[in-house]
Order: sequence, then structure tokens, then C-alpha cells
Amino acid sequence: MKNDKQAAPLALVTGGGRGIGRAICIELSCAGYAVAVNFLANREAAKETLSAIESNGGSGRLCGFDVTDAQATKSAIAELVEEYGAVSVLVNNAGIAADGLFAMMSQKDWSSVLSTSLDGFFNTTRPALKSMLRKREGSIVTISSVSGVSGNRGQVNYSAAKAGLIGASRALAKEVGRLGIRVNVVAPGLIDTEMSQDAPREMIREMIPLNRLGRPEEVAKAVRFLCSDDAAYITGEVLSVNGGLL
Ligand code: NDP
Repeated sequence: MKNDKQAAPLALVTGGGRGIGRAICIELSCAGYAVAVNFLANREAAKETLSAIESNGGSGRLCGFDVTDAQATKSAIAELVEEYGAVSVLVNNAGIAADGLFAMMSQKDWSSVLSTSLDGFFNTTRPALKSMLRKREGSIVTISSVSGVSGNRGQVNYSAAKAGLIGASRALAKEVGRLGIRVNVVAPGLIDTEMSQDAPREMIREMIPLNRLGRPEEVAKAVRFLCSDDAAYITGEVLSVNGGLL
């Protein structure tokens, strides 16, 4: 083990290269965590996230793996635990959408969306949790969606995946609360990232009481709060960051 890397506790953020994940990486770095920036294919974006962290005086490293690949995820997290001692914070942020009316939905669009969210949750959370259990402390925050809370037309696959994450997190919170680990969910509304580029933004904006899209940084601040001691008595909770959209 390299002791120099154990000074700051480690936060692992899946899909940390861009969008909401990038903002979470930067926010957690500002909160004092070393950050493992996970990415799937877009290494350049992940490098930019890491550069932003380092130029703010923070530290971390890139950590490329596909959250749907159980073996690759397990090996990558084992390496992180070896280097940093434990994963103190896990943010399950990686997610994809493949929208379309259910009657026309392909098996592939159903499976890929569920697999990224739910297999991703399983593959990533289990090995990270083991390292938290050894220390009897840790915080897990998973990014769901308003779509998982209320359901959304054209997103039956995505709503199923995101609702599943809420159920999984609430159940896990009940299993591990006594062991010092908190498990929470952030459910964003429409946030201004690449994922939301194809959404009918003007129409949706009019449906949002605060009358604008959210910013990735606004989701990141909710994640930071849930990971902090200020949220020490909060677990099994779903925190909406949606401008009032329901
Ligand atoms: P983006 O599409 O901008 O980014 C998605 C991120 O997930 C990328 O970093 C991507 O990696 C990563 N990713 C995708 N699949 C995998 C995988 N199999 N393994 C590892 N990483 C993967 O999305 P957003 O930032 O908008 O969304 C982030 C999260 O927030 C998602 O879970 C999304 O469902 C949720 N959300 C987003 C909302 C929005 O309006 N934007 C609203 C509500 C929830 P790479 O860069 O390498 O491709």
C-alpha cells in the first residue's frame, strides 16, 4: 500500500468524466476527497475532470471500467482499495437512456438501460461496500431520476431502472445502517447535460415550476450534502433536485 494516497478518503464516482458525474467529482474533491474518476469510453473527458480537480488543489486518478462488466469492475475497485485503503464514498452516477414508446421498444434498449443502472449498481456497490464494512463507515449515493419517482412517458425502461435503484438503495440502507454505512438517492429532474440534449427542452421548461433546467453543480451539491456529516442521520432517503417538476 502507498501511504501517501491514504491521507484523503477516497470517493469513487461512476461516469465521472462528464455531465453530472464531472460536477460531482469536482464537488467531492472540494469537500476533501481524493476522487477516482470512472469512465466508460470517453477518456479525454475524464482527463479534463481530473485536471479540473488538480487545478483546484485536489487529487485523484482515472479509473476506466464498464459498470456492466462485473469482473472488470471488481478488479478496478480492488486496485483502488489497495491504493487508498478503502472506498469511503461511492456515487453510482453512470447511466444511459434509450427512449421510445414501450410498444416499439427493442429488447436491446430495455436490457442496456436496465443493465447499466441495476447491474451497474450491483457490480459497483458490492465490492465498494465490502471495503466500507471493514471500516464500519461509508456513504453510498445513487443517482436516480424524477422518471424513476413518477414514471415518464417514452421512458418505461429508464423509469424501471431508476425506480429499481430507489428500491435497492432503501433496502440496502436497512441492511447496513447498523454497520455505519448510509445509503441515499438523489433524483434529479431535467439537468443541462448531453443526456438531455434531445429532450423537448422548451416544452419541459414550461412544466418546471422554477422555469429552467437544473445545472450539474446543483445535483453535485446535494450529493456532497448527503456524503457529509451534516447528513449523519439521513439514510434510505430520496432527495429530489428537480426545480419542482414532478
Ligand atoms: P451523460 O450522458 O452526460 O454522462 C453519462 C456518464 O455515464 C458518462 O460519463 C459515461 O461515460 C458514463 N457511463 C455510461 N455507461 C457507462 C458504463 N457502462 N460504465 C461506466 N460509465 C458509463 O449523463 P448525465 O450526466 O446527464 O447523467 C448522469 C446520471 O444522472 C445518469 O445516471 C442519468 O440517468 C442521471 N440523470 C440525468 C438527468 C439529466 O437530465 N441529465 C436527469 C435525471 C437523472 P463516458 O463519458 O466514458 O461515455
